[in-house]
Amino acid sequence: MPVRFHGSPATHLTLPALEALGLPHASTTRHCPGITHPSEPVSPIGRETAAVLAPLGLDLGRVAFLRQVHGAAVRTVDAGGNAGEGDVVLTTKPAVSLAVFTADCLAVILHDPAGRRLALAHVGWRGTVKAAARAAVGALAVSGTRPMDLHAAVFPSIGPCCYEVDRAVIEPLSAAFPDRWEAWAQPTGPGKWRLDLWAANEFQLTSAGVRPDRIVNPRLCTGCRTDLFFSYRKEGSCGRLVTVAALPAVTEASP
Ligand SMILES: [Zn+2]
Repeated sequence: MPVRFHGSPATHLTLPALEALGLPHASTTRHCPGITHPSEPVSPIGRETAAVLAPLGLDLGRVAFLRQVHGAAVRTVDAGGNAGEGDVVLTTKPAVSLAVFTADCLAVILHDPAGRRLALAHVGWRGTVKAAARAAVGALAVSGTRPMDLHAAVFPSIGPCCYEVDRAVIEPLSAAFPDRWEAWAQPTGPGKWRLDLWAANEFQLTSAGVRPDRIVNPRLCTGCRTDLFFSYRKEGSCGRLVTVAALPAVTEASP
């Protein structure tokens, strides 16, 4: 089972593949209360959300979040709070929760269980062009992670089924990935393509050294499932999903 939903109606989901690694994490649905847009200085995760997610071992009193700008800048944090402008947030500190906010964009978790490092990325088409996912792997590698040791997960986001784009997207994408972009973009008419951001980002992860068999993507499309998720494409102005994770607190080794 690639996804486990929690609550009725479901307020959030977790991925058994990450649970098996002991990584506290969750990604909310539209039925999760208390989430706002990232704004300074107030945490965008309210008390009601914290209560829903606390049983997973996530301390949302110490959540680090970004002013997301569709770029590829990486912010390294060792405490909660607003980490500034960027789209990748990285930590080596246990129990510091990292959060990214999305409505169609990809939320990507990168976890190095042995090296005890964690990064979350927010990636839309602009972040794909700027190679935010690759930047996240690169930043983890600089801090000491071997990319082959990483586990990656892609959370509910817009699928190729629902993501038609025009030249404004394809021109920068094809300039950034001249040899690859045609594998991700299916022509649908004059000046129109269906874009597969999942494939584009999975390529960036594997080309940065992440093992393909360690990338989990349940391929849940926010556009297809507006009953469960928020979709900026389908709904225009809408709420945000939050994907949050924290390195597990260090426990004493058993005798
Ligand atoms: Zn869809």
